[in-house]
Amino acid sequence: MSEISSITAENFTDNPVIRQMSNLGHEQILFCQDANSGLKAIISIHDTTLGPALGGTRMWMYQNEMEAINDVLRLSRGMTFKNSITGLDLGGGKAVIIGDSKTMKSEALFRRFGQFVNSLSGNYITAEDVGISPDDMVHVSRETNHVVGLPGKSGDPSPVTAYGVYVGMKACAKIQFGTDSLSGKKVLVQGVGHVGEYLVKHLTEEGAIVSVSDIQQDALARVSGKYKANIVELSNVYDTDIDIYAPCALGATINDETLSKLKCSIIAGAANNQLKEEAKHGEQIMRQGIIYAPDYAINAGGVINCFSEVKGYSSQWSHNKAQEIYNTILNIVSRSKSENIPTYKISGQMAEERIMKAKQAHAK
Ligand code: NAD
Repeated sequence: MSEISSITAENFTDNPVIRQMSNLGHEQILFCQDANSGLKAIISIHDTTLGPALGGTRMWMYQNEMEAINDVLRLSRGMTFKNSITGLDLGGGKAVIIGDSKTMKSEALFRRFGQFVNSLSGNYITAEDVGISPDDMVHVSRETNHVVGLPGKSGDPSPVTAYGVYVGMKACAKIQFGTDSLSGKKVLVQGVGHVGEYLVKHLTEEGAIVSVSDIQQDALARVSGKYKANIVELSNVYDTDIDIYAPCALGATINDETLSKLKCSIIAGAANNQLKEEAKHGEQIMRQGIIYAPDYAINAGGVINCFSEVKGYSSQWSHNKAQEIYNTILNIVSRSKSENIPTYKISGQMAEERIMKAKQAHAK
């Protein structure tokens, strides 16, 4: 039996987690541990003003617990912004399971996690994220109803995400080129995975001149062959003369190095956390005359699809809601132009405005 060491009043007031929660406005954190299954998880609820907090569960081998806490705080806050700007009646939340997703998964671990999700009585709704499969979520669902993205229900969100990126890209084109037609526009899609391939399909159907890049040669050959897209070598992605750059692979591809080279006038893609340093690179993009569609606003098709499952899944509803990303991006970019403020900042303000209005309505 291990010794219990006390937390003193002195070190409690200086608790870095509680300080960080109040700095970022988080409502609740649930630390979960279960020795039998080896579960170590953290569920973070950032804001439930607009509705229950929805956000995926990530399984990752964090270096230490503080790294996991910082990640879950950052990701859950990001979900509040994404759900708000998308006009969903959802708050922001996220969960992380600390562990190796290749070796530490078990039915017991996910069922125990499901019990913790259930203990929040629907204040947090979970879904898949990095390191988690639909089968894992089936185990979770045996312990709680507060889970979406299950097999046979809303299914793969990628087609809806790709559609949202496509219409959001058209909104950027409307402002940058005066027309939202992408016909004849040179678009480079970086990453032809689940989302990238569907995006290439929409773009080629509209007559865009599409080029593709990927680290997986087989995916690259298949997609470029199927849609007659040009292949761009990995080393040439940021030197190629294009109109639109669509990052659909990794985050942080917009950074000092790439911004000094990028030859495009629009950045619109599905990848999360595209700006390496949000404030610095968000400002720099605007100074270079490039329109940047904020990632969490343009890639919201996935969460739209999940939300549809909460309401009783309808693919038509998901499609229609994803179509609204066109107007969301148009509003963000128009306001950015007229107020001379970078798009990342405008989108944050718009998300916060919606939450403030709801808070005021609740107070009445
Ligand atoms: P995916 O894993 O299916 O596809 C990613 C592709 O990028 C893979 O083919 C991979 O080989 C490729 N890739 C990796 N590194 C690369 C590099 N350096 N250069 C070029 N290609 C590279 O993932 P996905 O589901 O298509 O998601 C793509 C991005 O969109 C991710 O950042 C994801 O977080 C984000 N996103 C996805 C969804 C969704 O519905 N799937 C929703 C919102 C955001």
